[in-house]
Parts: sequence; C-alpha cells; structure tokens
Amino acid sequence: MDYDVAVIGAGAAGIAAARRLTDAGRSVIILEASNRVGGRAWTVELSGMALDMGCGWLHSAERNPLVAIGREGGFTIERGPTAWQSQWRDLGFSPEERAAAAAAWQALEKRLRANPPASDRASDALEPDGEWNAYCQSLSGYLNGAPLERLSVADFLAYDSAATDANWRVHEGYGNLIGAAVPDVTLRLSTPVRRVALTSEGVRLETDRGPVTAGAAIITVSTNVLAHGTIAFGPEADDHLHAAAQLPLGLADKLFMELHGNHGLEPETHLLGDARNDETGSYYIRPLGRPVVEGFFGGKGAVVIEQAGLLDAFTFALDQLSSLIGNNIRQHLRPLAASSWCHTDWVRGSYSHALPGHADARTVLARPVGDRLFFAGEATHQSDFSTAHGAWESGLRAAAEVMGSAG
Ligand SMILES: Cc1cc2nc3c(=O)[nH]c(=O)nc-3n(C[C@H](O)[C@H](O)[C@H](O)COP(=O)(O)OP(=O)(O)OC[C@H]3O[C@@H](n4cnc5c(N)ncnc54)[C@H](O)[C@@H]3O)c2cc1C
Repeated sequence: MDYDVAVIGAGAAGIAAARRLTDAGRSVIILEASNRVGGRAWTVELSGMALDMGCGWLHSAERNPLVAIGREGGFTIERGPTAWQSQWRDLGFSPEERAAAAAAWQALEKRLRANPPASDRASDALEPDGEWNAYCQSLSGYLNGAPLERLSVADFLAYDSAATDANWRVHEGYGNLIGAAVPDVTLRLSTPVRRVALTSEGVRLETDRGPVTAGAAIITVSTNVLAHGTIAFGPEADDHLHAAAQLPLGLADKLFMELHGNHGLEPETHLLGDARNDETGSYYIRPLGRPVVEGFFGGKGAVVIEQAGLLDAFTFALDQLSSLIGNNIRQHLRPLAASSWCHTDWVRGSYSHALPGHADARTVLARPVGDRLFFAGEATHQSDFSTAHGAWESGLRAAAEVMGSAG
C-alpha cells in the first residue's frame, strides 16, 4: 500500500482532509487534476491586486474556521459591512424601489418557510406577475447560481437558516489563504484520477501518471465532475453519482474592470445594474479601496455572459454601468479579468444547489462506501454547501470518518 489515504482534489475540502489526517500521523497523497491547488478558491495577482476569481467572502464569519486559520497564517482579515444592499447615489434604483424589492424578497422567503410549495420548487412561491420577480430571480442567481425554477425549497432553507449575516474578506485573497493551508504531504498536480477501484486491501486509483494504492480514498471533486462520469467507479458508487446529478453546480461568474484617472467613484460602494432584469450584473465598486469594479453575475445572467464570450460580457457590463453613471465612465474602465467557471475543466460550474424534491441527496452523497471510499466537498455539507468553509468542514468530517473506520 503506497499511502494510508489518497485525497482526490486539492480544493478547500481536500486540503482540510489532508491536514487533519497528517496531524493524526497518517500518510497522505493529494492527487489534483489541474496545475494548481485551491480549486474554486483561486486568487490571481493582477495590477498589484489579489483578485478572487472564485470564493471571496468568508461567509458566516463568526463561526467560519478559515478566519482563525487565516489569522494564524498572517493573512489580513477585513471585518465589516458589505455594500451589497446599497446603491451608489441611488442611481437607477431609488430608496423606495429598494425597500419594495427587499420587501418582495423577504415576503418570498416568508412564504417558502410558512407555506412551502408541495412541489418543493421555489419558483412556485413567487407572486404571480409580481413586480419584483426579476429582482428575486437575480438574487437567487447570486445566492444559488440558479433560477428559482431549479431550486429545492428545503435545500435553500437549510442554508438560509444556518447562515449568519457576517461576511468578511481577506486582503491577500481567499484563494491564497486556502492554498497556503496545504500541509506537508505528497502533492501531485496535473494528475487527474481516471478510475477508482476497490481492492481486497483498500483502493487502487488509476491516474495519468500511473496507479496509486491506498487504504482509503477521499473524493472531493465537484458534483458536475462526478455526474459527468469523469472518474470511473464500480457499482458501489452508483447512488453517489446519482445524488451528484441531483445536486448540480449552478453558475456564478466575476468580471473585473480596472479604474483609471479621475473617475469619481467612491470606495466600498455598489450598483445593481438593473433591478428589473433577471440577468443583471451586481457591481461592487472599489472593494477594499482598490481601483477596480468587481462585477458579479449569477444564474441566468452568468449563463448568458459565458455564452456571449468575454468581449460581449465586458460590453454588457460597461453598458450597464454607463447607463447608470453616464457615458464618461467608459474611458475610466478597462477590462482586467473574468472567470468562466462553466468552462473550467475539473470544476464545470460554481456551487451546488439541490433540484426540487432532492434536498436529501446531500445525505446520500456524504455517505461512506464501506471503510474505503469517503466523499467530501461543498455539496456534501448539510447546511453550509456552496461555500468554502462548508467545503473545509466536509473535509474534516471525511477525515474523521476515515480515522473512525480504521479503528
Ligand atoms: C464565482 C464564485 C464565487 C464564490 N464565492 C464564494 C464566497 O464568496 N464565499 C464562499 O464561501 N464560497 C464561495 N464560492 C464557493 C466556493 O468557492 C466553493 O464552494 C469551494 O471552494 C469548493 O471547494 P471544494 O473543495 O468542495 O471543491 P473544489 O474547489 O472544486 O475542489 C475540487 C478539486 O478537485 C479537482 N479535481 C476534479 N476532478 C479531478 C480528478 N479527476 N482527479 C484529481 N483532481 C480532480 C479540481 O481541479 C479541484 O481542484 C464561490 C464560487 C465561485 C465559483
């Protein structure tokens, strides 16, 4: 046996699992298909700024274990309010409209809790022809990566009930924080696992760089990677692959635009592009005081910009911003970087949501197969799915299961 445990995937879940196992004296190998660690936690350095293409917010920050890990690692954690609910200078979205839109979302949440539709389909609780339905859809896009039609009410409420309002950031980048937490183990990058087979003693993994044997494997790849059959398993994992298909990744993407010259935009402010358009971008202006606008697209909006391609996506964002601020802003904004998570090999989407009627798929996906195969990753968390800390905690859970099963 080459190792006690093989961890498939070096995202937040895989890194957490590997840390816990090495702390307990187990020999561990991490097999990562891409050429970097972090997965959906990915910071790029551009124009002297650490920009997060994936996770950026330490959600539920008071109970988020990555806050303490970041501080121990010397990262600068920024507490404090977010600008999401504000609209800079009330442009295009008056305080009265904002109050009405927020009330419509709260009323929707109240109906979901008090009188959930029998279909478990969140869109069935929308007010027929409600004035702010497009706004509610765009919020669902940001939160769940998916429109309300594809969203399980029970699953959404499990997240919503557990999450707190504290959303913090890390100056050096959330991706860098998570990447810095990789323990001292054997790490093989650019090594996709193609097949996982049970043997009499443990598991045998076929990779592009030869086989690896271990006592057990922890599988942390995304649900879209699992459901697409990227890794071949024996029939013992059929239920897991089926559960993964009920927990697809929704889509969310970011567009960063650099600010130049005398633009007049104030730091830590925000603009919603068009509250009546369910494909609208949400623009965080000068986050952490930086000369950048961070556009965020979710659900339908993210699908549209990925289909449109980079050039049209930036044009759409610039059009939305100039229609609010004025045409002059165009000369101060330069496209800098954009994510394309649907087209990112080895991830294929942004974060998981349960399809209507399938909230219980998370329990199935998290279940071990005997004492050999253990599943982690954000989608296996019962309440903090779709987050980096949920992924992290799932890795700790899987590591504890491996150690428990080994007696
Ligand atoms: C645009 C965007 C914004 C987000 N914003 C936030 C946020 O603000 N706050 C927050 O908490 N969360 C946010 N998230 C979600 C968060 O990033 C993820 O939930 C979390 O990082 C997932 O971690 P994971 O370990 O479960 O999966 P992943 O990060 O996907 O890790 C799985 C790893 O497995 C590897 N892999 C895949 N196939 C194979 C194979 N065959 N062999 C070997 N390796 C393989 C992949 O390359 C990947 O590195 C955001 C995500 C996106 C995309």
